Amino acid sequence: MSDAPVALVTGSTSGIGLAVAEALAAAGYRVLLNGLGSAEQIEAARARARAHGMEVDFREADLMQPAEVEALVRYCEQRFGRIDVLVNNAGIQHTARVESFPVEQWDRVIALNLSACFHAIRAALPGMQARGSGRIINIASVHGLVASEEKSAYVAAKHGLVGLTKVTALENAESGITCNAICPGWVLTPLVQKQIDARAERECCDKAAAERQLLREKEPTLRFTRPEDIGAAAVFLCSPAGDNVTGTTLAMDGGWTAR
Ligand code: NAD
Repeated sequence: MSDAPVALVTGSTSGIGLAVAEALAAAGYRVLLNGLGSAEQIEAARARARAHGMEVDFREADLMQPAEVEALVRYCEQRFGRIDVLVNNAGIQHTARVESFPVEQWDRVIALNLSACFHAIRAALPGMQARGSGRIINIASVHGLVASEEKSAYVAAKHGLVGLTKVTALENAESGITCNAICPGWVLTPLVQKQIDARAERECCDKAAAERQLLREKEPTLRFTRPEDIGAAAVFLCSPAGDNVTGTTLAMDGGWTAR
């Protein structure tokens, strides 16, 4: 359907981004996927999103480069005519104590998890403002609300992203554009699997035991949030019921921040 609304989802070749892209395609959006990965991984992501019968395209862009963020937004506008929904999802993690945190890793995490979101919002807003409607969803984290040790860059970036969400919401409050942040706790994706594997190696335990430890430390429900749950939350924020939901954070964290 060439007049269907359009969603741009960054970092949608895997994990949460792919689940959000699939949920939006199932809800009737044409989707532009983006991310890194092998040709097979990109084709598999494209096939999963296309299974819902909507038009799906993919555009590679290294979002650590501001010019590539802007080019991605422009490509989406040219390819599909507009952007109704922007989901800033691409993100990375690096763990180390502050005094030994590699400077280049700090710069990478801030560039992708915070600055790329600013560049995408900055580039997409004029089109949304001209049409008087739009939805911006930032996939922040529970780490946009509280901190954990050894995650200085990630926690700083995600707190910054929550702040950027609020400012964007306020500046566009009367323009039909909403901006919100979803703040997941643990979601079992490649990003978290790396942390489980590292823990299993460090503690000399098996991966199942490392998973249980990870959950017990932080999530009272002792469950992972599923990627498709984040997709459903994004669909809600894009629905008419989300018209007056703006500048807020939706924690999907199994009670992590209730403690
Ligand atoms: P993931 O590693 O499965 O996916 C990350 C995506 O970002 C991939 O598509 C990857 O190709 C893309 N990406 C990485 N570097 C990129 C770059 N330079 N340019 C463009 N794309 C790039 O991770 P995930 O767990 O699905 O995380 C997605 C988002 O959710 C991140 O922002 C993450 O911080 C956030 N988050 C995840 C969890 C969790 O438990 N998994 C919890 C809270 C928040």
